[in-house]
Amino acid sequence: MISTIKLDQNQPLKPPFTNSWFPANLAGLNCRFEPQSPTDLLRWGLAALGEDVVLATGFGLSGIVLMHLVSQIRPGTTVFYLQTDLHFDETMALKERLARLLPLRFEEVHSGLSLSDQAGRYGPELWRSDPDFCCRLRKVNPLHAYLADKRGWITGIRRDQSPSRAHSPKISWDQANGLLKLVPLADWSRQNVDDYIRRHNLPYNPLHDRGYPSIGCTVCTRKVKKGESERAGRWAGVSKTECGIHIQPDGTIKRVTA
Ligand code: SF4
Repeated sequence: MISTIKLDQNQPLKPPFTNSWFPANLAGLNCRFEPQSPTDLLRWGLAALGEDVVLATGFGLSGIVLMHLVSQIRPGTTVFYLQTDLHFDETMALKERLARLLPLRFEEVHSGLSLSDQAGRYGPELWRSDPDFCCRLRKVNPLHAYLADKRGWITGIRRDQSPSRAHSPKISWDQANGLLKLVPLADWSRQNVDDYIRRHNLPYNPLHDRGYPSIGCTVCTRKVKKGESERAGRWAGVSKTECGIHIQPDGTIKRVTA
């Protein structure tokens, strides 16, 4: 069962639900969980945050590992994805497969802005003329609105994916959205993720075997060449390296967690 949440483009963005719960010592929590396993951090986060923590996925390899782990710790936990209307067919087929396989509650979050309305308002192929704005409309703002009444979110980013992610803490305060952010696989490698998926016989996107290690919207994703980094195929040819959902007000993915 997959439910859809559509934003109303005419409503202003809600301010985040701030300071309902703020752990006093994030640095201490990071010291505690840095040497521990993803399961340890997930158990703690799911217990501490109750029903108000959600798992984000773009159906990449790390997200599949997290979905499997979370489904074992607390079946029925909400997993959500940002529906941009520009996903590969293979990604959407994988979503259906995972929704049938795993005992999780799937939610699709949509900007409420169709591609034709976007083209009418801002011009055709906004992802070419202004990819940051396109990501803001289709990903960053919908995420912000969706997280406004949550206390924590879990993401699958890893430090080995790119220089901008190299210092991601396992626990941080997401200032942009006003809630706790858990990154249980921060210190995992691509090999760790591949091994887990193979060991548990989990489905994954077949595009990974065709030269796409990182997969986003069709129009902003290309195959990588031999020797290129995992995310080199995202927004290739422009300086953009992140869609923006992990970027904090200072323009970085925070490394300081005090
Ligand atoms: S990844 Fe590309 S198409 Fe998708 S929201 Fe961002 S700029 Fe737009």
